[in-house]
Amino acid sequence: MLVYKFGGASVKNAEAVKNVAEIINESSQEPLVVVISAMDKTTNALEKVTEAFYSGKLELAKSLLEEIRDFHMEIARKLFPVNQHHIFDLIGRTFYHLFYYIQEPPGRNFNYEYDRIVSTGEMISTQIISEYLNFSGIKNRWYSAKDLIITDSNYRDAGVDWLKTEKAVKQKITPYIKNDKCAQRPIVVTQGFIGGTTQGFITTLGREGSDYSAAILAYTLGAREVTIWKDVAGLFNADPKVMRNTILIDSISYQEAIELSYYGATIIHPKTLKPLLKRSIPLQIKSFYNPKQNGSVINKDYVKDHSIPSYIFKTNQILLSIFPKDFSFIAEQNLSRLFSEFARTGIKINLMQNSALSFSVCFDQDKIKTPVLLRNLEKIYNLKYNTNTLLITVRHYEKANLEELLMGKEILLEQKSRTTLQWVVKEKTAEQV
Ligand code: ASP
Ligand code: MG
Repeated sequence: MLVYKFGGASVKNAEAVKNVAEIINESSQEPLVVVISAMDKTTNALEKVTEAFYSGKLELAKSLLEEIRDFHMEIARKLFPVNQHHIFDLIGRTFYHLFYYIQEPPGRNFNYEYDRIVSTGEMISTQIISEYLNFSGIKNRWYSAKDLIITDSNYRDAGVDWLKTEKAVKQKITPYIKNDKCAQRPIVVTQGFIGGTTQGFITTLGREGSDYSAAILAYTLGAREVTIWKDVAGLFNADPKVMRNTILIDSISYQEAIELSYYGATIIHPKTLKPLLKRSIPLQIKSFYNPKQNGSVINKDYVKDHSIPSYIFKTNQILLSIFPKDFSFIAEQNLSRLFSEFARTGIKINLMQNSALSFSVCFDQDKIKTPVLLRNLEKIYNLKYNTNTLLITVRHYEKANLEELLMGKEILLEQKSRTTLQWVVKEKTAEQV
């Protein structure tokens, strides 16, 4: 059994949906689970609806919602014979329910309202695509991920209940997939990003969470392989938008991929790899423009991990140096106070370094959290900081051309381990690499 994940860019318009149908049609004859995101930038658009609704701007919310409905209607008109298909009714009804829903004032839990509204993107994209596949002779069954991926009620960042999810998936999908009487191979179509509580409320797994959905389903069903279809040819050793002469990594281990995403590589959602690693399910990353081309594969094989250096650039960083006012050493007491201050403000440290009397940290600048942290620290510590810095991480730097990378940049901090080199440098340099 295979799991395919198609993101927003792969279903951004009618042509793209037809391409997805072709990829599915031409893939091997195994049973297939297809996980799909919202079309194009629909999630961003629905976030705006939620914000308008929540801040009492009903007219704005309605007009934004109309635009989203029209966008989906337009795609459907290009896929189906106009007005002869029940999909038009279905799109109309889905948005009608949402218009109706936002007439009532919002509840107190913003995150609950967010999940209720934003999940519509995936719900409607999968209905359109499932219907289009059926219409093109690719028989499939649509499932609501709300009944498959069972989560807690931590709306917007829901945690998966693995036992309940495994049970639900096995109860609902396995009988269909194992049914030998199917004339064609069984194909399941479902949403990425979405889950549901045991009480039946819809939840979401965090932005870009569809990769994670694919991994959850692959894990519970014991899939042979997962493929994430992207608009790039695979995993590169640097972001091609930032660096020239990037190299496609044809194969790396789960552990190395986890390291890369920890340091800020954004190609796959960080939670995706753990379930796959646990059941040794390989993850392919391939281009939906060139489905026949080999992409990258992430699996158990370490052999090539060290063969090429990888570069990760994290922009918009703040480099903060902290000095105890009483000249006490940076040891257990100060460290524990500092870490709890970071945890309390919800700031994730990207790099840290200490000496006897100072502690330096690098973290993402945040309009709300950063000033709170600085205000609290200032009471006990003297602070020095640089804003707008860039954090460069090089994995397997021994093979990298560091001189070229550093050209013209002022290093504010350097840290080296056996495999990883990190620099904090003054910003505005990433484009010049
Ligand atoms: N549609 C959601 C998002 O854009 C989930 C995903 O694409 O993975 O964040
Ligand atoms: Mg997306």
